[in-house]
Amino acid sequence: MKYVSSRGRAPEESFLGILRSGLAPDGGLYLPARYPHVAAAELARWRLLSYAELAAEVMARFADDVPREDLERLCQATYTAQTYGYGRPDSDAAQIAPLRWLADGLGLLELSNGPTLAFKDMAMQLLGALFEYILGRDGAEFNILGATSGDTGSAAEYAMRGRRGLRVFMLSPQGRMSAFQRAQMYSLADANIFNLAVDGTFDDCQDIVKAVSGDLGFKAAARIGTVNSINWARVAAQVVYYFRGYFAATENNAETVSFCVPSGNFGNIFAGWVARQMGLPVGRLILATNENNVLDEFFRSGCYRVRGAQETHSTSSPSMDISKASNFERYVADIVGRDAVAVRELWWELDARGRFDLRPMPFWRRVQDSGFASGHSTHADRLVTIRSVQRDSGVVIDPHTADGVKVARELRQPGEKIVCLETALPAKFEATIVEALGVAPTRPAAYAGIEERPQRCHVVPADAACVKRYLAERIGLAATGVPAP
Ligand SMILES: *Cc1c(COP(=O)(O)O)cnc(C)c1O
Repeated sequence: MKYVSSRGRAPEESFLGILRSGLAPDGGLYLPARYPHVAAAELARWRLLSYAELAAEVMARFADDVPREDLERLCQATYTAQTYGYGRPDSDAAQIAPLRWLADGLGLLELSNGPTLAFKDMAMQLLGALFEYILGRDGAEFNILGATSGDTGSAAEYAMRGRRGLRVFMLSPQGRMSAFQRAQMYSLADANIFNLAVDGTFDDCQDIVKAVSGDLGFKAAARIGTVNSINWARVAAQVVYYFRGYFAATENNAETVSFCVPSGNFGNIFAGWVARQMGLPVGRLILATNENNVLDEFFRSGCYRVRGAQETHSTSSPSMDISKASNFERYVADIVGRDAVAVRELWWELDARGRFDLRPMPFWRRVQDSGFASGHSTHADRLVTIRSVQRDSGVVIDPHTADGVKVARELRQPGEKIVCLETALPAKFEATIVEALGVAPTRPAAYAGIEERPQRCHVVPADAACVKRYLAERIGLAATGVPAP
C-alpha cells in the first residue's frame, strides 16, 4: 500500500512511513494511492469476527508493512473488554462498540466506553500500541507534542501513558477546560506524561505547537511528532467501527445503513467515507455540526468558507468548535479524482480568500452524488434532544451525540436505518446535562471523585521559546543551540 499526498508533490510513503508524521512535506495530507476493496465473500466472513479480529483485518489492508501476526497481537491487546469497559453499566463491554436501538431505525453506536469516555479512544489506543511496537523494534524514542481543548489530549495521554520510548507533551489553555477534563489529564502520575498549562487560549496553544514543529532542526533533534486527527492510522482504526456498526444493525450484507456523525475536523466521518470506498454498503453519511457550521454550509451550498477566531463560537458541544476542518482536504482530493493540481488550486484560493466555491465547477455534482447529507443544531436543540432521548428510551446522551441525533431525526427517510455515532459520554459534560435534565449524569465508577485527586501540571507563558526549553530539558537535549532556561 502506497500513500500519496493530496497535493501531489511529496514522495510516496508506506504506512509506517507516515505513522508518525502530520502533514506531507508539500503541505498536503497523505492518502492511500487507492482504497483497498473488500469482496462480498470477505464481507460475509467479517460479519462473524470479534472486534479485535475485525480490526486486524481492516488494519492489515492499510498497514501492509506490519507483519500480520504482529497486527493481530496489537489489536487483541488493544480491543479488550477491560479497556472499553468504562461505559454504562448495562453496556456489553465485550462487544467493544455495542449498538443500542433508540427508536425504530435509529441506533446508537457506543464508541465512548474507553478510558477517556470519548470515541477518540477507539483509534488512539491502537495508535499507542503501534507506536510502542515500532519504537521497541527500532530501539527508538518519540515525543508527542500536542495542543488540546479537552478530548484529544486526554485520549492521547491515556493511550500513551506508561508506554516505553514515548513521551507526551500536551499543551492546554489554563483555566479553560471543564473541571472533569482538567482532572482527567492533570491527575495522571505517569513519568512519560507532561501537562503544560499555557497562560493563553487554545489558539495560543496551537500556535506554539506550530512554531515548535516549524523549527525543523529542533523537531528532528527532539524527535517530535503529532497524533492529531489527520494521522492516517487514526482514520484507518476508525474505519473498523463502521463495519462493526453495519454488521450490528443488519442481518445480511444486502441491506444499507446510513451513519450520522457529529463532526468537527471531519476525521470521524471521513473514516465512514473510506469504509464505503472499501465496499461497505453505507447508505448516507449524515454530517452534523453545532453552531460552528462550516461543513454543514459546504454540503448545502458548495462553498467552503473557513472562519476566523472571532466567528468561532464556544458552544456546549465544545469538541466540535472548529473554524476549519483539517481532514476535509482528503475528501476533496477524492472528489476531484485525485487531481493534485485541482487540490492545490482550491487550497491556494482558500489561503488567499478564506473560501472556495465548488458550485461553478463540475465537482459540485460529484459532491451531491457522494452520498453526504448534513444539518446543524443549536444549544436549545441539544437540550431538547437530550431530554427527549432520555424520556423515550431511557438513555442519557452527551451534547455532541445530541447534535447527531437531532440531525438524524430531522433527515431520516422512511425505512432508512441510521446509526448515530456516540462521540462522548454525558459524564464528561455534566453542566449541560444538568441544564437539560435537572440531574447530573451517572459517572463511571472509575471516575468517582476524580476532581479531588492530586493534580500535576506545569504552567508556562504563551511563548514557544519557553516551551522549547521545557522540552529540551525533559528530553535531555544538550547541544541543540537551545539556550538554557
Ligand atoms: C473530536 C470529537 C468530535 C469531532 O470529531 P472529528 O473527527 O473531528 O470530526 C465530536 N465529538 C466529540 C466528543 C469529540 O471528542
